[in-house]
Formats: sequence, C-alpha cells, structure tokens
Amino acid sequence: MGFSSEFNIVVTGGAGFIGSHLCDRLIQQGHRVFCIDNLFTGTFSNIRPLVNHRNFEFIEHDVREPLEIAGKIDRIYNLACPASPRHYQRDPIGTLRTCVVGAHNVVELARQKGARALQASTSEVYGDPEIHPQPEQYQGHVNPIGPRACYDEGKRAAETLFFDYHRVHKLPIKVARIFNTYGPRMLENDGRIISNFIVQALKGEPITVYGDGSQTRSFCYIDDLLDGLQRLMESPSEITGPFNLGNPQEQSVKDIAQLIVQRTGSNSPIEYHPLPQDDPKRRQPVIARARAELGWSPCIPLDQGLSATIDYFSLKLFTVEAAARPVPDLRAARPSRNVTRAAASNGAGRRDLARKPPNGRNLSSI
Ligand code: NAD
Ligand code: UDP
Repeated sequence: MGFSSEFNIVVTGGAGFIGSHLCDRLIQQGHRVFCIDNLFTGTFSNIRPLVNHRNFEFIEHDVREPLEIAGKIDRIYNLACPASPRHYQRDPIGTLRTCVVGAHNVVELARQKGARALQASTSEVYGDPEIHPQPEQYQGHVNPIGPRACYDEGKRAAETLFFDYHRVHKLPIKVARIFNTYGPRMLENDGRIISNFIVQALKGEPITVYGDGSQTRSFCYIDDLLDGLQRLMESPSEITGPFNLGNPQEQSVKDIAQLIVQRTGSNSPIEYHPLPQDDPKRRQPVIARARAELGWSPCIPLDQGLSATIDYFSLKLFTVEAAARPVPDLRAARPSRNVTRAAASNGAGRRDLARKPPNGRNLSSI
C-alpha cells in the first residue's frame, strides 16, 4: 500500500508494540515522524533502529501533559495507553487519565495544527458483549465500576471527545476499534495471552489458562492492523468511523494454548487459574464496514503470524539467555561441535533457532 504525500506525523505511544511498528512503516514511506512516549510499557529498544534517522524524533513525554510541537503537523495517531490488563490495572487512575486527558491533549494539538487525529480505540468498548459477533452499531455492555473500567470507560470517553471535537470544531477525526492484535515486540511480561503462552511454552513452564479456556478472542497480526490503520487515516475526510479493525477468525483460549504448545514443540502442561473479573466471554469483530469503506480485510493467517511471533520470542529469549551464560573454557574440555546451539537450547520448549522464515509474505519479525 503506498501513500504518495510525505507528512509530518505524530505517533503517541510510538515506543510501544503497535506504535513502534507504525513508526517503522511511516519512516520507510518517507514521512517525518515525532514519536511521543513516556515509556510506561514501551521500550527504547523498540525504536532504537530509528533514533538516528533524520526524519525521526523521539520525545519522551506524558500525554497527560499538554503537547507542544513546533511547525506543521499533518497527522496524529493517538496510541498512547497501556493495552494489557496487567499493565493498565497497575495504575488504574493513571490509565483513565491517559485515556481521557491524553486524548484531550491530542485533539487540542490537532485542532491547533489543523491535523487529522486517529484514536486507537478498542473492542473493550463493547465490554462483555451480549451480542455476537460485534458490529460497530452495538453500544456495548461495560461494567463501569469493575477493574477493567479504567481502560474500557476511558476509551469510551476518548471516543466521545473525538466525536465532540468533530462536531464542535469540525476536527477531521478517525476512530479505530482495534481487536486483539499480536506480533513481535509484545513485551515478554506483557500478560496478554499470545505473549504469555509463547513465552511459557518456550521456557517449558505451565501454560496459564484462565477459567476453563472456553472464552474466545479473534487475533489480528500486526502487519494487517497497520494496513487498516493507515487506510483509515488516509480515507476521505468525511469518513470518521468508528471502524472495527480485527481478524474475524475466532478461537477459544484453550485452542490457542494447544496450538502454541504444538507449534513450539513444547512439553508445557496446561494449568487452569481463576478467570479474572469481567473477562469478556466472546469476542469477534464484524468487519463489513472496513471492507466496504476502506477496502480492508486482514490476510495473514493465524498460523503464519504465530510462527513469526514464536521466532521473535525464540531469538529474544534464547539469545539473551545464552549471551548471559559464562563462556565455557573450550581449551580445558573437548567441546561438543556446536557449543552455541547447545547453550541456546538448554531450556525446554522450542529449540530450533535456525528456523526458516515463515512462507509467503515477509512479516514483521523484529
Ligand atoms: P503498548 O502498551 O505496547 O503501547 C502503548 C504505548 O503507550 C507504550 O509505549 C507506553 O509507554 C505508551 N504510554 C502509555 N501511557 C502513556 C502516557 N501517559 N503518555 C505517553 N505514552 C504513554 O500497547 P499496544 O498494544 O501497542 O497498544 C497501542 C494502542 O492500541 C493502545 O492505545 C491500545 O489501547 C490500543 N489497542 C491495542 C490492542 C492490542 O491488542 N494490542 C487492542 C485494542 C486497542
Ligand atoms: N488469558 C489466559 N491466560 C493468560 C493470559 C490471558 O487464559 O495467561 C485469557 C484472558 O483471560 C482472556 C484472553 O486470554 O480471556 C485474552 O486475554 P488478553 O489479556 O490477551 O486480552 P483481553 O482480555 O484484553 O482481550
């Protein structure tokens, strides 16, 4: 997908999982990128390859404080917010303020600069849905006082703010309701299902299924999501959304656990833990609107996306682990022929560091 104009683009949350992949892509397309992040769940290593690029600027800043950037700004992607329940519940009041005050600072900056603003909203605005699958018209079933509310209600209020700025100030806005997205650069301690299960399987630790594992989610690979976000941002100005962006292929948590155990060649047992409060039972996007108005639908199958993600975590876990181990004195004892491979494969689980990249498209792999 190519967008011809070169823009000055702000990405809040640009050092996070989705944000850093977006920054990569925008830089590759020739745009100038201002990446704003307070590194709450983002990491500098995600953007390290970009920091010396002439078109890239990292601004360590909290979006709960007003945003000031000199010069012209054409586009703002507002991604700043922890996305994993583990992390957004770590500081619930901070999360609510990031969603609402952060969004307010973003739309204010957009208004001052005459920029388009895209809000990264979420399937969580539907809460624990009573209808299935979920179209955009569904108004949701959120518990406003539960442990997920800081995020769910915060994101709902942010949508309200975006639409009120559109109505009151004629601000050009776009709202994406992102469903579960996965891929390389998720945090190892992220707490979300795909990263948790892959890391557990690779380390040979028990796979922690919450509840009986019959609850479902629908998983979208990062590259597909980025296509959707960019198509939405560059859609005609009268198109605002909200748009569901996600992969409609629905899977139970237990199926995901089994699939990851199988794909990693792990011996990890499945261990059952209590279901967290208000954990949605089913989730699957209706993407008819995105298909019709954006010409978007995801095309990377779960199998292929999981392979790329497993490859990422294999390298990350085992190369770091191997590098931290003392180098054996190869003169003292006769070495086995392949010391590095042997050291790297000391943990249970996936051991094949020399795997070929997944077939087909070149997926984001770092
Ligand atoms: P992430 O946690 O990897 O990234 C969020 C980034 O925002 C991090 O770099 C973090 O440091 C930064 N951040 C948090 N609070 C901030 C603040 N107050 N000021 C500045 N920066 C701040 O999460 P992600 O998966 O990349 O999600 C990105 C966005 O997409 C989030 O807004 C999230 O709600 C939304 N989203 C993600 C998913 C998903 O499955 N990944 C699903 C729905 C919605
Ligand atoms: N989950 C699980 N074990 C884990 C992490 C998550 O069983 O180690 C379940 C969780 O209860 C939920 C689903 O996987 O039903 C997706 O959880 P995640 O935190 O990834 O995203 P969200 O609940 O926000 O969709």
